[in-house]
Amino acid sequence: MSEFMNVAEIFGENVFNDAVMQERLPKDIYKELKRTIQEGKELQRSTADVVAEKMKEWAIEKGATHYSHWFQPLTGATAEKHDAFISTPTEEGKVLMEFSGKALIKGESDASSFPSGGLRATFEARGYTAWDPTSPAFIKKDATGTGAILYIPTAFCSYTGEALDQKTPLLRSMEAIDKQAMRLIRLFGNTSSQKVTPSVGAEQEYFLVDRDKYLKRKDLVFTGRTLFGAMPPKGQELDDHYFGAIRERIALFMKDVNEELWKLGVSAKTQHNEAAPAQHELAPIYAQCNVAVDHNQLIMETLKQVAYRHNLQCVLHEKPFAGVNGSGKHNNWSLTTDDGINLLDPGKTPHQNIQFLLILTCVLKAVDKHAELLRESAADVGNDHRLGANEAPPAIISVYLGAQLEDVLTQLINTGSATSSIKREKLDTGVRALPDFAKDATDRNRTAPLAFTGNKFEFRMVGSRDSVAASTIVLNTIVADAFSEACDVLESADNFELAVHDLIKKYAAEHERIVFSGNGYSQEWVEEAERRGLPNIKTMVEAIPHLVTDKTVNLFEKFGVFTRAELESRAEINYETYAKAINIEARAMIDIASKHIIPAVIKYITSLATSINQVKEACGAVCVDVQNELLAESSELLSDTRDALKLLTERVDRAAEMPHGREKAEYFLREVVPVMNDLRTPVDKLEMIVNKEMWPMPSYGDLLFEV
Ligand code: ADP
Ligand code: MG
Repeated sequence: MSEFMNVAEIFGENVFNDAVMQERLPKDIYKELKRTIQEGKELQRSTADVVAEKMKEWAIEKGATHYSHWFQPLTGATAEKHDAFISTPTEEGKVLMEFSGKALIKGESDASSFPSGGLRATFEARGYTAWDPTSPAFIKKDATGTGAILYIPTAFCSYTGEALDQKTPLLRSMEAIDKQAMRLIRLFGNTSSQKVTPSVGAEQEYFLVDRDKYLKRKDLVFTGRTLFGAMPPKGQELDDHYFGAIRERIALFMKDVNEELWKLGVSAKTQHNEAAPAQHELAPIYAQCNVAVDHNQLIMETLKQVAYRHNLQCVLHEKPFAGVNGSGKHNNWSLTTDDGINLLDPGKTPHQNIQFLLILTCVLKAVDKHAELLRESAADVGNDHRLGANEAPPAIISVYLGAQLEDVLTQLINTGSATSSIKREKLDTGVRALPDFAKDATDRNRTAPLAFTGNKFEFRMVGSRDSVAASTIVLNTIVADAFSEACDVLESADNFELAVHDLIKKYAAEHERIVFSGNGYSQEWVEEAERRGLPNIKTMVEAIPHLVTDKTVNLFEKFGVFTRAELESRAEINYETYAKAINIEARAMIDIASKHIIPAVIKYITSLATSINQVKEACGAVCVDVQNELLAESSELLSDTRDALKLLTERVDRAAEMPHGREKAEYFLREVVPVMNDLRTPVDKLEMIVNKEMWPMPSYGDLLFEV
């Protein structure tokens, strides 16, 4: 019997969404809660009590036994602690199911056990989670469908109110851009919109490998990426995986992922095979940015959980396999008013759309002025293998506008005004039977870190494992800053028309250098960018200092998004994260090389030597030429392996003496990472020599082509 999935029916069935609230909450309570959600009005405690009661009833009907404040500490992942709804047992030994407004609004958590970068010492451990009513609560069921937990999205702060998470500054940055964007659109005569919200659509790339094989790769298990591995005969050179037909095992997995996500109200929309073998992508429909950030976390968790059920492993690392593409996350960002106007929509004739041109040039200014900070927002240990490593996208921040807008910009700069827009043409396929349709006004450029794609900006630098929060916070804040400076000028101008015209021209001319439409992977661009004075920050460790420059601190403090102390703590956390991650990778390499690879190579060499003796006896020295060559070659590689292993072990041991923070991170970057590469090189060559049955782990070919 086959049962069809009724998507419309299951969508959002596990979400305490607006429909459920309307149905279950008393009218006045619903109204007050809506005001909190829409206008940020503080919620009365008595209201929270009613909401909690109704939420509890709903959750229990869905089988929930526990609730959990769900938050995003600075680990990149989410955190949760489950509390059962049960009350203290009565004298008769019975329990009630209880959930108060207080428990809904506020949770307590040991802040000292999460990364705090010095903001919290172990002796001042108190931290709070605070309900974020703008992101709906939801229920997650276990694989059997019987156990369920109510999740309440929250922000996580220290006792003194410092942000210890991604959510708090994200919400602050949303307020900042709302305020400045409202100022700007009011100047252009918009009196109807009440609020401007950033929208985000996060495309998620991932790899799927067979779980049994995965478990035999301790490097993948411990670090999320392969630390050794020779290239298989075939990689992605035939371009036959991207958009290729989806194999049945993967299709079944995707179907289950979609079902789980739809139930959670995540609008999973697009799925396809990506460029590398075993690589795929999932994109939801964009949403308000804090909801999109939560949803992206749910997407990553769901991919992992469902993969497990299918005996697959979802690998989210930015570069799990050398030699084929890594994975990223595209952050599609735009600004929308509460009455549905997309402020990044140029319309058909952008040259006449003055408000759009101002917004566009403000974005150029923001990105040019804070390129280092935007680059930093995508810095992540795994991302060092992508950014600047000749892969999408390069580490140099630039903006791709496309032919139409670039033409408008050039007109503005050259003549002071733009008088025409390149028109959309009909697509001519040369086949009469195919329907005609209008082409986009511009082609695409896949190599640009930030691309204007019709009515949104697509920031392509974010790592696949990373939260989209950091880059969204930066985009929101730097653009808020540019808007604010523009409004300062325009609000005091005598002649608005003239002033806005001058401002657009000024911004376009001053920040034109950030616009680039050529091939971002080429060496010419690296040189050209240097001539233009654009920063090229190749590693995470070199990006981190830009979090705490005066320029950055002033920006964030101006809009109340981060305090200096919060930024310093984030920088500390990033340095530590880097050092710890590389330390784990190096130790995993040492472990695997000593316990698995060297013994396997010795076994191979011994059996080869034994067979040489036997063959020589039977047929003389001429018969063992090849064997002798192999013996010499593998022995030499074995000795290279041992040398690199020794050096790596020494370097890792010495790291313990390094002071924490920047110095330690730099030590790992400069002294440990290169030796890891030195160890990998002979091992990968040995993999090509040693018998497959003797090699202690599945090969790239096994992992990538036998899913
Ligand atoms: P691509 O061709 O780059 O995959 P899509 O149109 O499929 O582009 O969109 C990719 C992502 O961008 C999706 O998550 C989509 O919902 C999102 N997106 C589309 N329009 C907007 C917008 N105005 N603001 C933010 N995200 C958007
Ligand atoms: Mg894509």
